[in-house]
Amino acid sequence: MPDCRIVDAPRLPTYDLGARHVFAPDRQLPLFDLLETAGLVTDAERLLPPPATDAELTTVHRSAYVELLKRLDDPSDRDALRRAPLYGMGTLDNPIRPGQHAAAAAAAGGSLALARAIQRGELRAGFNPAGGLHHAMPQAASGFCIYNDCALAIVAARQLGAERVVYIDFDVHHGDGVEFTFREDPSVLTISFHETPEVRWPNTGLVTDRGIGAGEGSAIDVPFASGTSDASWQRVVAAVLRPALARFRPDLIVTQHGADPHVTDPLADLSLTTASFEFAARLARELAEQHCGGRWLATGGGGYQPVTVLARAWSIVWCVLSGRPIPDALPAAWSARWRARAGTAAPPARFADDRYEDPRAARAAARNERMLDELRRVHGL
Ligand SMILES: [Zn+2]
Repeated sequence: MPDCRIVDAPRLPTYDLGARHVFAPDRQLPLFDLLETAGLVTDAERLLPPPATDAELTTVHRSAYVELLKRLDDPSDRDALRRAPLYGMGTLDNPIRPGQHAAAAAAAGGSLALARAIQRGELRAGFNPAGGLHHAMPQAASGFCIYNDCALAIVAARQLGAERVVYIDFDVHHGDGVEFTFREDPSVLTISFHETPEVRWPNTGLVTDRGIGAGEGSAIDVPFASGTSDASWQRVVAAVLRPALARFRPDLIVTQHGADPHVTDPLADLSLTTASFEFAARLARELAEQHCGGRWLATGGGGYQPVTVLARAWSIVWCVLSGRPIPDALPAAWSARWRARAGTAAPPARFADDRYEDPRAARAAARNERMLDELRRVHGL
């Protein structure tokens, strides 16, 4: 038995928001083709999990929402269509397409299966690139996300005895659905690193937010200035995570590795390279070993360049998680296969980007330092 596994995302039912949607239905294919071509995954490491059941989904989501999702498979159900907007469905971000309940339940099933296997001691760590659907709310779809696999996995781990779970969100957008779900729960610490809500959807995740009621202090929001480059991002991430986790002492780490803080991402304006994706994965692994006996569930998330960014970003996460060295050059056969799909941007030649510093980096770094000072005051870090 391998000590870590990856959810076999291409074999799950297709998560289809439409062929022209920025969250492309086939976004996992270049990643898995790269893992196979570069010899970075074995058959034994690939996991095809069962879909989340209704009973599992309703540990986080309202049953009326789950019922509605199932009814939307029937285009003649006019009552369901009429009520869809009350549940965040039928929007540009979350258009109604057949089979969405099944696909979202399958993606959630991956994070659930890994969380349980890790918590039971059957695996050290796992990666669900089809997961990380962090915007889904208990009662509504949001931001391309239908069921919140991260929140579901955290609840499942808690039910199996994890006393304290930390959720760390590296996506460029605020991890609002996970934070909202646990905002009153002191046993789940959510930490989100995102572009400042002043300019970036969903426009939440202020440095002053702390959770509410019994959960006060269990939400940490870290908003970065637009144009933030690798050095400042990495400094702040480490300066927050090390003391926060030392104080919280988690039993399990759940991470979300949205690749949309990348400098070339079309939906946001941070300026990271793959060096920061590797940094985040290595720090998560180190903290999991330091605090949780290595127990670490990693998920995917945003990222809208399946060939030029996503395939490399999540190969890097998987290599770090599974203990493989990250190769240098991308296989020529893979690059040739995906050249047409990469569009105007030819696939890069290497796993790692060249160094890049945004012309705005110094100004962004100064703003980030002031933000970090305030965050330390707010949280007593
Ligand atoms: Zn995102």
